[in-house]
Amino acid sequence: MERIVFLGAPGAGKGTQASRLAAHRRLPHLSTGELLRGAVRDGTPLGREADGHMRAGRLVPDALVLGILKERLAAPDAREGFVLDGYPRNLAQAETLASVTPLEHVLSFEIPEPLLTARLTGRRHCPECGRVYNLLTLPPRAPGVCDVDGTPLARRTDDTPEAVGTRLAVYAAETAPLLRYYEARGLLRSVDAVGAPEAVFARILDRLRLPAVPTPSAQDL
Ligand code: AMP
Repeated sequence: MERIVFLGAPGAGKGTQASRLAAHRRLPHLSTGELLRGAVRDGTPLGREADGHMRAGRLVPDALVLGILKERLAAPDAREGFVLDGYPRNLAQAETLASVTPLEHVLSFEIPEPLLTARLTGRRHCPECGRVYNLLTLPPRAPGVCDVDGTPLARRTDDTPEAVGTRLAVYAAETAPLLRYYEARGLLRSVDAVGAPEAVFARILDRLRLPAVPTPSAQDL
């Protein structure tokens, strides 16, 4: 079983690395931020409730996030494990998660705070396929458009300077204490998250003692 949680400040690269690791290990990438953004896009009651909190950079109330997370964890593809990014974000969520599923690894992304603001304000994504870019660290091949489908890139509504300030403060006050929580439970490892995405990914495999060779798909066997 590989039930892995990525912890780290906004902008540390959790989403990018979680989707790489998930593809590499053939596990689902579970992102509460993505699930919430999907609900906002679809205009569901949850999405309507979450939208204002997200735009302001605040946490969405625990009960709402837990609902979508539980539903996602119950899907068949999460039976063999998962890479969870964006949850838990406070101690209450960590306790709830522990009551829902055991974990094998919690990986903390270490990155100096001054880099975070630059990374967040440089972040862009493709509204069509969801691929994430960064003007600084992971630029698209042609400026302003997605490598995959040529769609003009967009900026998240919470990557504005005001929301970024709130998100970093919320991280320091509510999420950072989880490092000690997981360290005390013997689950925590940390990775230096500064550098090119490929370099960080190689460090992650090393820290989690996972092979550099991707897990073959059923078609390859
Ligand atoms: P992320 O994509 O992980 O940066 O999350 C974007 C936003 O979604 C956060 O700033 C929160 O408003 C909300 N969010 C995501 N995960 C959680 C969570 N576990 N608890 C509360 N709010 C969350």
